[in-house]
Amino acid sequence: MNDIAANIKAIQDHITQQAFAAKRNAEDIKLVAVSKKQPLKRVQAALDAGHRVFGENRVQEAQERWGELRTQYDDLELHLIGPLQSNKAADAVALFDWIETVDREKIAKALANEMLDQGRDLPCLIQVNIGGEAQKYGILPAQIGEFYHYCRYSCGLDIRGLMCIPPIDEPAGLHFAMMKKLAEEAEFSELSMGMSADYEKAVPLGATIIRVGSAIFGERPSEN
Ligand SMILES: *Cc1c(COP(=O)(O)O)cnc(C)c1O
Repeated sequence: MNDIAANIKAIQDHITQQAFAAKRNAEDIKLVAVSKKQPLKRVQAALDAGHRVFGENRVQEAQERWGELRTQYDDLELHLIGPLQSNKAADAVALFDWIETVDREKIAKALANEMLDQGRDLPCLIQVNIGGEAQKYGILPAQIGEFYHYCRYSCGLDIRGLMCIPPIDEPAGLHFAMMKKLAEEAEFSELSMGMSADYEKAVPLGATIIRVGSAIFGERPSEN
């Protein structure tokens, strides 16, 4: 499992080099290790290597994985990076430290109510449907301003920025550049974009959160 430690280090080094080339501070770029569907021993190898920031896309799977581990690692930081159903909002607020996928009013309201009930105030990101794809989750770019206003002023959510998953069959850099512009216009401080295949394009375009799964842990077993 040495290779997982080596993978994390290589990616982090790469991010540092790219940040330097882009005249950015590497400390402003957070590497989220996406542990969804990965066997526990691979996740344990990342923990043993000292990594503490992880991403999961399903609430229930994350609870099974992290419910127990949380008690052993009090400096864990868990990011929800997948779509949320409102009946899972309570569990999500209890488990996660960041919610990256606020994508509709109903979810914003459910999260806000739960945070109030549980006395937690989690940093959140608005998921943007940057490619305008019919089947994708997220807010369309033209609606970000209005949705932000709803989240911030009608719900009181701590919205820090934007997150996206670009269309799989189009050049990611194009979409990352659009995201950068949207974030700058709205003066957001956080931009979550870039995965195993394209994080190198995201760093020069202002990503502050990078979500990398298979390049750290290897291919996910039984993906479907
Ligand atoms: C699975 C997933 C990732 C990581 O994907 P890799 O290609 O394995 O790096 C990143 N972001 C989201 C939202 C995901 O669902």
